Amino acid sequence: MANHTIKQLMQLSADIYAIPNDQLYDLDDLFYYHQKWLLRYIDSRKKEHEEKMMKDLLASVAWFSAVVNRFHIDLEKILPKRYPYKCPFCLELPCSCEKFVVKKSKKTGRPTSRMPRNLSEWQKLIEKIYPSENLLFKNLEILSHQDRLHQSFRLFRRQSGKRHIKDIENAVADYFVELLKIFNFLKKDLGVEYFRIFKNGCYVCGKKPCECFYVE
Ligand SMILES: [Zn+2]
Ligand SMILES: [Zn+2]
Repeated sequence: MANHTIKQLMQLSADIYAIPNDQLYDLDDLFYYHQKWLLRYIDSRKKEHEEKMMKDLLASVAWFSAVVNRFHIDLEKILPKRYPYKCPFCLELPCSCEKFVVKKSKKTGRPTSRMPRNLSEWQKLIEKIYPSENLLFKNLEILSHQDRLHQSFRLFRRQSGKRHIKDIENAVADYFVELLKIFNFLKKDLGVEYFRIFKNGCYVCGKKPCECFYVE
């Protein structure tokens, strides 16, 4: 079992994409491509193209990492604060949130010292909080989470007066957990899959840094 850390995943994404992303794309582009690849993933999933589905999903993870990296958000550091062995909305393990209720998070308290050290362990913890057998998998649900993530960045940028970086940090942590739920549901290890596809560079052009240029 591989033990890639969140930091390593973010670093790999930065090594391949940070330079071209900074040169070519503004924040709205990053969100646009993030959503585009999510839509492709949903489409391939519907058509049951397994390998294509995984690649599309991983490409969307790469665009998500681009957003996280651009804002210099330390996902590895904020995740245990948001998810310290419990759901930040109901504070239970496993989660007992009622469906279809607008959720408001609560203070989760201090993370314990035995927090996950790598992506595989994080996936296991998320499986404990949100057992995939209890999840009714809705293909389109991830899109509403993507929308919420995007919205939090728009609010952050457009707010006048004091900005709260914590709002977007929480949105990033919540979105990442949704991703882990999907990988749990698919019974795939995010770290293993991500490094399989990206370890030698961009999986489209094969270069590090990437030399692709998207104009759509
Ligand atoms: Zn909950
Ligand atoms: Zn490329």
